[in-house]
Amino acid sequence: MIYQISPDHHNLRHSSAWIITVLVFLKSTVCTPVLTEPSVSTDEAEGFLEKYGYLSHLHLDSDSRSAAEFKTAVSEFQWMSHLQVTGQLDTATLKQMGTPRCGVKDEGSHQVWVQRVNDVFTGKMSSNGPRTRRKRFAQPGEKWYKRHLTYRIVNWPRHLASGSVRLAVRTAFQLWSNVSGLVFQELPEGHTDIRLAFYEGEHNDGAGNAFDGPGGALAHAFFPCRGEAHFDMAERWTLNGQKGHNLFMVTAHEIGHTLGLEHSPVRHALMSPYYRKLGRTLVLSWDDIAAVQQLYGKPLGVQPLRVTGQVFSSALQEWELADVSEGGSGPARPLYCQGLFDAITMDQNQTLLVFRGNVFWTVSAEGNISGPFALQRRWPNLPLGIDAAAFSLLDSKWYFFKGKRIWRYSSSVLDAGFPRMSTDLGFPRHPDCAFYYAPLGHMVLLKGSRYSVLNLVTLRSEPYYPRKLADWTGVPKGTNGAVTRPDGLLYLFREQKYWMFDPLKVRVTRQGQWSGELEWIGCSSRTQQDNNIL
Ligand SMILES: [Zn+2]
Ligand SMILES: [Zn+2]
Repeated sequence: MIYQISPDHHNLRHSSAWIITVLVFLKSTVCTPVLTEPSVSTDEAEGFLEKYGYLSHLHLDSDSRSAAEFKTAVSEFQWMSHLQVTGQLDTATLKQMGTPRCGVKDEGSHQVWVQRVNDVFTGKMSSNGPRTRRKRFAQPGEKWYKRHLTYRIVNWPRHLASGSVRLAVRTAFQLWSNVSGLVFQELPEGHTDIRLAFYEGEHNDGAGNAFDGPGGALAHAFFPCRGEAHFDMAERWTLNGQKGHNLFMVTAHEIGHTLGLEHSPVRHALMSPYYRKLGRTLVLSWDDIAAVQQLYGKPLGVQPLRVTGQVFSSALQEWELADVSEGGSGPARPLYCQGLFDAITMDQNQTLLVFRGNVFWTVSAEGNISGPFALQRRWPNLPLGIDAAAFSLLDSKWYFFKGKRIWRYSSSVLDAGFPRMSTDLGFPRHPDCAFYYAPLGHMVLLKGSRYSVLNLVTLRSEPYYPRKLADWTGVPKGTNGAVTRPDGLLYLFREQKYWMFDPLKVRVTRQGQWSGELEWIGCSSRTQQDNNIL
């Protein structure tokens, strides 16, 4: 993050305008905690229980539904979700209903699971044995009666390179073939057993299956032999630790359904109905493996192989580093130009750095683009997929934020005592973005509808913060990066849009699409041509 301090020392009129504004804000507002976690209302809870198969749709008039029936449904949901089973719609239950999940019903999952555990303990793990009859999401069908299955990716999510998506999908199928008797093959066209497609809203499989935009139901799939897995196009899909929902994890889960697997009540199972982040641990739990082997047996002639999230992350990093240029012979257009990055900042040489997943790119003051470079080669021990990054001109140090922690580097050397816990220092976890802000002389962290001010000398949050984001007139919530340009203007980014904040006017004065309009970001065709001439 940079702010050209030197030529502007006499510009006190503007600085004091800012300070006065801040003081007025300080007087007029009292901070109140905000509820940021999604939750459903008591009224919505009944619809949720119907949608996910805990209550039947038979009663059009909800008054005719007995209280006992409702309580049973709530209890069953609580059991499946590892909540205290009370049968009451308490806060924890309503909050759980609001968390991102798979759109497939949980109906019948409990009975199937009880049967599976029973079979595991009585040694009846047969791939051909009779199964409990289940009520299904789509047409009944037990399983595929062949071991070699083909699949096709029908269309693609926005903002992800098709090479990376293809690798993620292939790896997701491999998770299952590694531990079962199944073999998968991708076909680029024609009929395939399984098809993966992205849709928005209603998409011709019933009003109940219409997608609901970001959050809520992320994807759903049909049991054999329909072979369809659908993903909500409106989600912010990511791979490898970026902000949003990890497409690899969700694909692996939905493939489980296309193979005939129900939801699992085991907390860390891939087939749990709730979204799980890609971690470093094993992707498949014992229960996922038991379920797929019950249908298709063990892998033929080889030991089952279990993959960790770390292995997938490393494979994707290598892939992304190798997959620099897309689309032909012209100059490489950096991958971030497709619309998403994790963080952005500018160093003392006015070189722009754009971070995404495991890698970063640089755009020099002259417009030369380089990268991607591996994040951890420049900043050893930094985690992948950072939340925010900022270079501070005050102390010439790099600050990185991820989850609960903050890292500080002098050049490429991690400063002693880091990483530190953000909560110990009084600022929020998972900040949306961070930038050094010269008018305040401090680092600013935005998070949801609030912002904090971090004193870089004391490394503590300044008093009277966090405060409301509304202080920054026109700045939206949920920005993924912010950078101050040498002219002092602050640019904030969210997905494809940018907002230009003028510190002198203390408001956003321009907004638009960054990849086409901001030449200095390294994506416009004019920049590319200039590069050629240079
Ligand atoms: Zn599911
Ligand atoms: Zn669908």
